[in-house]
Parts: sequence; structure tokens; C-alpha cells
Amino acid sequence: MNAADRYAKLLPDGVHEMPLLRVPRELTEMELQAHWFAGDFGREFRTVAGGSARVVQFGVWNREAGPDFAEAAVSLDGGPPVRGSIELDPEARDWERHGHAENSDYEKVVLHVFTRSGAGEFFTRTAQHRNVPQVLLDVTSLTSEPPNPLPAAIPGRCCAPLRELAEEQAREVLLGAAQFRLRKKAAALATLAELHGADEALYQAIAATLGYKSNKLPFTLLAQRLPLRLLRKGDADALLFGVSGFLPATDLAAFDAPTRSYLRELWERWWPRRAEFERMAIAPKFWRMAGQRPANHPQRRLAALAEIIRHWPKVRTLRDRCEPGAIHEFFATLRDDYWEHHFTVSSRPSAKRMALVGESRVTEMLANVFLPLAITADPTRWATFQNLRAPLANQRVEIAALRLFGDSPRGSEFLKYAALQQGLLQVYEDFCLRDATDCVHCPFPRQLAKW
Ligand code: SF4
Repeated sequence: MNAADRYAKLLPDGVHEMPLLRVPRELTEMELQAHWFAGDFGREFRTVAGGSARVVQFGVWNREAGPDFAEAAVSLDGGPPVRGSIELDPEARDWERHGHAENSDYEKVVLHVFTRSGAGEFFTRTAQHRNVPQVLLDVTSLTSEPPNPLPAAIPGRCCAPLRELAEEQAREVLLGAAQFRLRKKAAALATLAELHGADEALYQAIAATLGYKSNKLPFTLLAQRLPLRLLRKGDADALLFGVSGFLPATDLAAFDAPTRSYLRELWERWWPRRAEFERMAIAPKFWRMAGQRPANHPQRRLAALAEIIRHWPKVRTLRDRCEPGAIHEFFATLRDDYWEHHFTVSSRPSAKRMALVGESRVTEMLANVFLPLAITADPTRWATFQNLRAPLANQRVEIAALRLFGDSPRGSEFLKYAALQQGLLQVYEDFCLRDATDCVHCPFPRQLAKW
């Protein structure tokens, strides 16, 4: 008999079966999510339809718009793990109440989990009418308080071998991945330049970076439908706003005076050209507004694109010289009287002045556009990229750092550099996003030994 069994024998009858703590039955959604992500409900379940569901990997905790847990993997009825998202709601019908059934962001949900099923039968269906397996959780099985705030992702199996590498070696691995990523970006930009010319390629790439991440597609479509050579002839802002569908024929009386005059001026230039361009309009379903920082609203980003076009000869010079300081300075001086004080055309004016293009967006442009172009022409520019500081990490890169380095200070140190962030993203995309085995069969830890 082992020590734990011997100790259990010491306990008065029944005590070892009693929960340590009675958990309140009404948990907030966040508490439920914390319990779920900590594995307090286990990983093997019966679905409401009577099948079996095994959560092979819990994925990452999504703190932005969309399903609660992304990049999870679930095995249904003993089948191979299916990658997708998991949505957790207090009640089954929250799926409909919160509009998930009409929202294409929820198309990849592979499991709908809830704690109350409500009266009558309810089917979880996606916008494309796919039936999503359901699991009803038993909150009475919980025997502890929700865990303290959990990290957004679970450290992976590669944490240990990465920790064993000297810091310089770990840095080298990430820089290798960053260089690999940069090469791919440079090749994609070269193809674009071959097809459309160097300026159009630069313009399309800048537009895509302004749309990152939720509106990359509509910004790319806009740049393809409204080429630079057309917009440089004039009315870039009116055409961009008109084709994006942000200039509906509404009664302007509803807006405050500055917005009224801003919209009227745009509308008067869009109106005569509407018939010519309306067929190119971006359908509203392509725009994603939920979960965006107010200052990143696509209307502000469109205004920034119009300003960039207005200063195009300067942008071309910046591309040719590719000096990060000069590029930051240029974007910091881009002005637009209206957009410096508005998040959207329908928001109240903000007293505080906001930059048209924030610092982190400029760093993204350097990492995704200017430096890949410069390094292709002059490989010695790699050193510039290697030393480029990154002001802010986005959720995805923070998750990548957590998966690879856990709570090691190396992870947060590496997040301070744009190139290392790019390396983290590359490893994450090449390995984490292809794995559906909760790291068990991921080759990265083994491959590290070959570095
Ligand atoms: S999937 Fe691979 S690379 Fe990602 S955390 Fe797990 S072991 Fe690391």
C-alpha cells in the first residue's frame, strides 16, 4: 500500500469523497472558461446526442472576437482529432442569442459546450447549417474555486528542449525562422511586383498591413479594385470610402457638424463616380468590426491609406532607402484633421489627438513590407531588422511565446524584437497550427536537437 492509500485509511468514513469546497452554482462565464481551460471538467465527455467526445487539445484562449477557444482539437466517437474552435456558453441557446449561428467566425467550431440546456431540444448550427456536437457540463462536479487568471495558452512540449538551449542558440533558432519567413514574404512581393509593377505591389502590401488582421481581405480587395495609378489621379479618399461601402445615402442631419461637413464633402466627390464604381463595392459581410481597438477601426485605416497615396513619391523614396527611423517619422507626421479626433464617423469626437497610423502598425509595415523588399536588394540590411525593437506584441505572437517558452523570461525578452516576433510566428504556424495531438507528435522538439 502506498503512502497516499495509507493516509486515506486515516480519514473518517466518507471524508475523502467529500469535495474540499462547495462551488457556487452560478459561475460567471469567465469563471466557467477558466475551469474548462484548466481541465477541471476533464477531457472525456458524452455528447448530448450520446456519442463520445475527447478534447485532445484545449487550444488557446481567445481574448478577441470569435469563439472562446481557438486551435483546439477534438476526437469524436474515437475518430481522428478534428482541429477547430470550442465555444463555451452558460446556456445552450446563448449560441442563437449571441448571433453565433449567423456569424461566419463560428463556422470552425467543433464543440459547443454549455452548463444548462434549457427546455426542449436545441441544435447548435453554424451559418452554413452544419450541426455542431454539444456537451452539457456538470458544474456540480467542480470541487474547487476557479483557478487564478490563466495564461492564454498552455506551454508546449518544446519548452523543455528550448530551455536547455543556450539563450544565444534559442535566439538563433528564432532568427532562422524569421529569415525563412522574410524570404517567403520577399518572394510573394516579387511576384506581385512582376504582375502589377513595383509601386502597385508596394501599395497593395501596405493596404493589406493596414487591414491586418481582421480586415486584411477587404483591404486587399480594395487595393486590387482601386489601383494606385487610378487613386493618384485624385479623389482617393472618396473612392476608397465609397467602394468600401462606408458612404451610404443616409440623412446627414443625424451627425454632428464636423462629421456632416466631412461626409458631405466626400459624398459630393463620390456621387458623380458612383455608377462607375458601385459594382466593385465590398460587401458588408467582409468587414469585421467586433473586437477591434477603436483606434484601429477600418474607416480610420482607410483615411490613412488615402493620406499615404497623397504622399506617394515620399513613400517610394522611403522604400528605396528603407531607414526605420525615417519611416516612423513619416507615418508619425501623417495628418488628417477629422480622423485625429474620431474613431468612426458615428463616434463622438475624442478630445485627445490620435495618430493616424500607430507605432505598432508602422513596425508591422517595416517587418512585412519595407524590410523584406530592402533585404532582397541588399542582404546586409538583415542586421537592421535583427535590431528593430517592437513596441507591442499582438495576441497571436504572445500566444506563440507562451507555447514555446512558458513563463520563462526568455519569452518576454524575445517579444521585444520585431525579427524574433516574426520567428515566433513562423514556428507557431509551421508546427503549432499543424498539430492536433496536444504536442505529442509535433516534430519540433525533436528537430531542435539537429540545430
Ligand atoms: S505544437 Fe510543437 S512547437 Fe507548438 S508548442 Fe507543441 S511542441 Fe512546441
